[in-house]
Amino acid sequence: MGFMKSPDAADSPDDHYISARLEMVGQIREMAYEAGDYSPSPISEEVLAIMARVPRHRFVPQGETYDAYANHPLPIGHGQTISQPYIVALMTDLLALDKRQRVLEVGTGSGYQAAILSELAGEVYSMEIVAPLAAQAASLLHELGYNNVQVKAGDGSAGWPEHAPYDGIIVTAAAGHVPQALLDQLKPGGRMVIPVGGWLEVQQLLLITKDLAGITHLKNIEPVRFVPLISREQAGQI
Ligand code: SAH
Repeated sequence: MGFMKSPDAADSPDDHYISARLEMVGQIREMAYEAGDYSPSPISEEVLAIMARVPRHRFVPQGETYDAYANHPLPIGHGQTISQPYIVALMTDLLALDKRQRVLEVGTGSGYQAAILSELAGEVYSMEIVAPLAAQAASLLHELGYNNVQVKAGDGSAGWPEHAPYDGIIVTAAAGHVPQALLDQLKPGGRMVIPVGGWLEVQQLLLITKDLAGITHLKNIEPVRFVPLISREQAGQI
């Protein structure tokens, strides 16, 4: 990346990371241009501007901060990962959110994707099945001032019915099929972005739109690789 952090960067002003973030955004732009085939448009400038601002290095483990802005996923503990920046940008863009809208995320992980959503949507609800990750993400999001995000520990395949319906639903772990509860909790006119496919299989990132008559439409976006959506029992074993 051509980016070096100073030894005390974790304690120093965020400024140390500005150039790294801009470089990251440049790489996202390039990848989006190369992929170039999804309609209606490339990743919006609004999403890229937010990614140039959100301190991704705060969402990765301290031993990984030097790599926080590289365009690849990173481990966050408990066998989980923070997604690649390009994928975060792509999925966010596909949701086409605005500030009046409410979004559900399944798979809080580090909380990074939730922070990005927080800047675009009115309200963000995010569920994480690994309880310590949920607690850590909730406290970091609070510390950084992302006050319109609520995090809950639990199985996101069942959605979060109390706040439904959602204008947008984003699932950041791969499902064998699209959970019915999530389809039910999507508002007519709403959009869901979800990777579908088995663990170690080729997964497809899908954009699901529900029209005003309540009929859903699927669009294949591109092949992706995500950690699997798991059950409570499986999460207990991590
Ligand atoms: N969006 C995250 C990336 C998370 S990786 C980020 O920005 O860092 C996927 C996450 O989904 C993992 O943390 C995993 O524990 C979580 N997960 C897996 N199955 C789940 C389920 N059924 N409900 C909620 N979260 C789940």
